[in-house]
Amino acid sequence: MIAIYVHIPFCRTRCPYCDFVSEAVSGDPPRNYVDAIIREINEFSVIARGRITNTQSDQAPSASHSRPSSRHSRANGNPYPCSSRRFRSHARCGRPPDRPGAPTEGLQFSRQRRGAEPGTLKREQHTWCGNEGIVAGAGGVRSVFFGGGTPSLLAPSALQRILDAIRNHIGLRPGAEITLEANPDDVTPGLADAWRDMGINRVSLGVQHFDDRVLRYLGRRHDGDTARRACAIIAERFVNWNLDLIFGVPPLEAWDETLAACAAIAPPHIAAYGLTYEPGTPFERRAGDAVGEETWLDLYQRAEAAFAGYDHYEISNYARPGFQCAHNLVYWRNEEYVGFGTGAYSFLDGVRARNHPETAQYLARPGEKAESLRLSEREIRIETLIQHFRLRAGVSKTYYRSRFGCDVRGDFGPQCDALIRRGLLEEDAESIRPTAMGFPLNNEIGLALVE
Ligand code: SF4
Repeated sequence: MIAIYVHIPFCRTRCPYCDFVSEAVSGDPPRNYVDAIIREINEFSVIARGRITNTQSDQAPSASHSRPSSRHSRANGNPYPCSSRRFRSHARCGRPPDRPGAPTEGLQFSRQRRGAEPGTLKREQHTWCGNEGIVAGAGGVRSVFFGGGTPSLLAPSALQRILDAIRNHIGLRPGAEITLEANPDDVTPGLADAWRDMGINRVSLGVQHFDDRVLRYLGRRHDGDTARRACAIIAERFVNWNLDLIFGVPPLEAWDETLAACAAIAPPHIAAYGLTYEPGTPFERRAGDAVGEETWLDLYQRAEAAFAGYDHYEISNYARPGFQCAHNLVYWRNEEYVGFGTGAYSFLDGVRARNHPETAQYLARPGEKAESLRLSEREIRIETLIQHFRLRAGVSKTYYRSRFGCDVRGDFGPQCDALIRRGLLEEDAESIRPTAMGFPLNNEIGLALVE
């Protein structure tokens, strides 16, 4: 099974802390962007024949791209090990990364070559158009995530066209999780009805905070009342939805009230990321406002306490039973995904690749890769382990053995022992997982595994 990410790189205005791939548009996002996405989906089989590894730069992406920031580990596609212990807001952009090499005979993804369950995707003739293409095999597509940017800016008819293209050209597994990221100020009862009716079954709401002072500091267009209204509209229509929060934003004392408001709304899933002041954004000049490590940890632990009734299953994510995000779990397990749209990452068959990060270039050549990198088997195993240690459950020894054909201890025994001695990991017969102390220190765990 694979996951699909669709990037919508448009927002009504740009938030000053944001470094996601997006641009401000005043009206509807351009129709030719949706056309390009659909073209990319349709030509996915062509891409799989080797364009990913044969484009301009079949070499390692720049450091900043090969190790996308933690927020990428959320929605759009870029789930790489974080370079910072501060896990950011928005799982959007580009979520994921990578791509396949060997084309013919069906895309034999690396998992298959390692002897695991066959048939993630296969090539065959589409009955509806007569052209050869890729369709979901036995596993199928397990999730689709519309991230951005602001996907809720797209008209329902445009979202429907993209979903139809995925269904017709690739195929969706029954019950696949289909998520749409939405900004509170876009949400109306009519739009939410339309999203639900077209098959979207999960909404991720970018609330960020309920305090108006914090929202003004962040440059958001909505206020707390708008956020509350949007939550009510979504909760009435969707069983499965997520509420995004950002902490570490002045005034810090507002955090407790926002936590209480969120706990009272009781969404089935909550993501809480610490604000970072990214180079190249307007907030770079405000870096002096950044909270210190102790304050960061205090705010993080307040969220843990407020959401004690949830399963804190990932460093920054909380879920009611049965509501873990299936799409993001693909990133956190370092499994395969395909990204469509500007700057979107893919990770298939051991190759991580990225579409052009400028929309003009993307429109000219949808699906052409600006960067691609074939990872060694060792690199894949290291990244898989680091990503799994973002999860409370850690890595299952059975899973690791079935995926790589060897024991995790055989690959990383000395490193794991050292981390266990430091109190960052613990182990039993079935798994190796982060301790309560190691859970928020994924970066330190990652560094120890790489060294
Ligand atoms: S709405 Fe989201 S993607 Fe758009 S600028 Fe703001 S933070 Fe970035």
